[in-house]
Amino acid sequence: MSQPYSIQDEILLPGFTGTVHLPGEAGYDEARRSLNPAVDSRPALIAEAQSVADLRVALLAARAHGVPFAVQATGHGTHAPCDGGILVRTSSMASVLVDPARRIARVGPGARWSEVIAAAAPFGLAPLSGSAPSVGVTGYTLGGGLGWLARKHGFAADSVLRAEVLLADGRHVTASPDSHPELFWALRGGGGGFGVVTSLEFRLYPVPEVYAGFVYFPIEAAARTLEAYRTWIDDAPDEISTAVVLKRMPDDEQVPAAVRGRHVVLLKVLHAGTAEEAGKLLAPLFAAAGPALLDEARTTTYGAAAMGGTPNRHMDMFDTVPGEVVDALVRASEQAQTIEIRHWGGAMGRPGPDAGPVSHRATRLSVIVDTVVPGLAEELRPYANGGTFLNFLADPSRTAAAYTEGDYGRLREVKRAYDPDGFFRVGHVAK
Ligand SMILES: Cc1cc2nc3c(=O)[nH]c(=O)nc-3n(C[C@H](O)[C@H](O)[C@H](O)COP(=O)(O)OP(=O)(O)OC[C@H]3O[C@@H](n4cnc5c(N)ncnc54)[C@H](O)[C@@H]3O)c2cc1C
Repeated sequence: MSQPYSIQDEILLPGFTGTVHLPGEAGYDEARRSLNPAVDSRPALIAEAQSVADLRVALLAARAHGVPFAVQATGHGTHAPCDGGILVRTSSMASVLVDPARRIARVGPGARWSEVIAAAAPFGLAPLSGSAPSVGVTGYTLGGGLGWLARKHGFAADSVLRAEVLLADGRHVTASPDSHPELFWALRGGGGGFGVVTSLEFRLYPVPEVYAGFVYFPIEAAARTLEAYRTWIDDAPDEISTAVVLKRMPDDEQVPAAVRGRHVVLLKVLHAGTAEEAGKLLAPLFAAAGPALLDEARTTTYGAAAMGGTPNRHMDMFDTVPGEVVDALVRASEQAQTIEIRHWGGAMGRPGPDAGPVSHRATRLSVIVDTVVPGLAEELRPYANGGTFLNFLADPSRTAAAYTEGDYGRLREVKRAYDPDGFFRVGHVAK
């Protein structure tokens, strides 16, 4: 009996030099995996690209066969399946070059932040990376990139100097202020729907030592800590980045005994300065919170500061945070594992005249909840500003909410100019 027709029989990748995984073969399940448990992608084939030429072969094959096409570096931000299509993995293309004199890094599409941090550290430099060093540089930066130095130096997207991009028609172009400037604008916060970025060049910053870590308090301190935080953020200098987190600590031997299995409120802090300065700045918050259960904050290197991400099931942005929001969050923490209330502001709210489409920059606080808490979204909505941030948004049907109307309209124009047939259609894409 003949085998049923399958698209894999037709999709060949002549000249492709990397490994190709087909359904049913060893390695396929591992290669299609993303970190988002809700995404169960079943591509017709998965291609491990080794070069720009490989990427072009895969792209043109998907085009020729009219099947979906998607890029994955690490799987940290894969929010839509590439069923029946070609999934190209870039993790082998992880080159990192640091030019310490110009304070610039140039990376391949598979590079992770850990690799850039390690390459830049010997020169006293650091990138604008985020909470998890395992996140991919390109996906993070295309989605804006909100890191622990963002209040001082802005979004990662604001520090991009140029990108090389494989377009939907197979052309390989440079996007910079002088070359394809509209594409360059869109890439700095508009996501991955404009082309395959094959190389990214961005600024690094001198970061000697930082004071960073978590300070834990009993959950009973949550309401008074958040009340104090609401006004404390008004005067916080750009050097200090903080978040208040309501958290149920795992009952796990790796967790310090003082907080193991406990419901806590913790302060995450990264101060680009000394411990003494940080102590003075944080004194009002510590006074409001009362005695700490555990203080892990210390002077360390940027690379050693582990700031821990929060899985995201719900996010809202706020320009003001009234007591009603504080009350709702404290109540929701009875059901959620983690709720992170994070201070924005500083350089994030001062884009240069040529900044990309990262929007809602006046947002003062974001709230991320890792659990769907019934009724919480409705309770918060009247006080939220309606915006969201692409990198914290798992739902591709809400992409437009990450932008102002004007910026989203401009993104759609760039999309029409560079991808008129909508070839890049998986995940966050301007429509
Ligand atoms: C644990 C964790 C912590 C996080 N912390 C932060 C944080 O602190 N700040 C922050 O801003 N974000 C953070 N994020 C969100 C993260 O930045 C996004 O999910 C980002 O998309 C991840 O990129 P990736 O390449 O690692 O993931 P992938 O899943 O491999 O890629 C995600 C998407 O990026 C696009 N993409 C990737 N490579 C390319 C390319 N070469 N060309 C074109 N498009 C491409 C594609 O659209 C792809 O679907 C975090 C996510 C997790 C899971």
